[in-house]
Amino acid sequence: MNIILLGPPGAGKGTQAMRIAEHCRIPHISTGDMFREAVKAGTPLGQKAEQYMSQGLLVPDEVTIGIVRERLAQADCANGFLLDGFPRTIAQAEALDQILEDNPIDLVLSIEVPDAELIKRLTGRRVCKDCGATFHIHFNPPQREDVCDQCGARLHHRADDTVSTVKNRLEVYKQQTEPLIAYYREQEKLVSINGDQAIDQVFQDIAQHLEARQ
Ligand code: ADP
Ligand code: ADP
Ligand code: ZN
Repeated sequence: MNIILLGPPGAGKGTQAMRIAEHCRIPHISTGDMFREAVKAGTPLGQKAEQYMSQGLLVPDEVTIGIVRERLAQADCANGFLLDGFPRTIAQAEALDQILEDNPIDLVLSIEVPDAELIKRLTGRRVCKDCGATFHIHFNPPQREDVCDQCGARLHHRADDTVSTVKNRLEVYKQQTEPLIAYYREQEKLVSINGDQAIDQVFQDIAQHLEARQ
C-alpha cells in the first residue's frame, strides 16, 4: 500500500508512522527527517533547508519534490511506502500524482488534533537523533529522563519546537497544507482519524482502516 500521513505539526504523524511502517512492513519516508539529516551533514541541501526550517517556513517545492522523487525511485519503495510530512502543498500533491502515475496513492490518513493540544505536544516533544524515536515530557515520557528507551542515546529538544516557531508552523499548515484535505477527499482517498486520544487508541483506529483495505 502507498500511504500518506497528513496532519498539522504535532498531530502524532511520526509517532504513528513508526508503528504503521512496522505493521505494514513498508519504508517510512519523512521529509522532515531527510532535511534534518542534510542539515546535520552540512550538505548544500541542508544549508538551504535550514534557512526555512529555523523560521517554521516550508522548504521550497522544487527542492522538496526533488528529494522525494529520488527517494521513491529506490527499490525498497516498490511494494509500498508511507509518506510522513509530504506532500504539504497542492503543488507537491500534484507533482506526487505525476511521479506515481500508474502506482498511485491508496490511502490518506488525516490525523486531527485541536490547536491548543498541538502547542503542548510540540513544546514538550523530545526526539532521539540516533533512532528517530519520539517522546514527550508529560504525555509519553522516557523511562529515564532525557535518555532514549530504544537505543540509550540522549534526547534532544528540536530548535523549531519553541512557542513562537510552533505558532508560525501552525499558521503555515492552515494556509498551505490544510487544502490537501479537500484535494484527497475529492480523490476519495481521505480517512479522518481522531488524533486527540491516547497513542495506542489512535493506532488501533488506524489499524482498522488498514485492515479494511488489505
Ligand atoms: P513536524 O513533524 O513537526 O510536522 P517535520 O519534521 O515534518 O515537522 O518538518 C520540519 C520542517 O521541515 C518543516 O517545518 C519544514 O520547514 C520542513 N519540511 C518538512 N517536510 C516538508 C515539505 N513536504 N515541504 C516543505 N518543507 C518541509
Ligand atoms: P508530528 O510528527 O505529527 O509532528 P509527533 O509524532 O512528533 O508529531 O508527536 C508530537 C509530540 O506529541 C511528541 O512529543 C509525541 O510524543 C506526542 N504525542 C504523539 N501522539 C500523542 C498522543 N496521541 N497523545 C499525546 N501526545 C502525543
Ligand atoms: Zn534512540
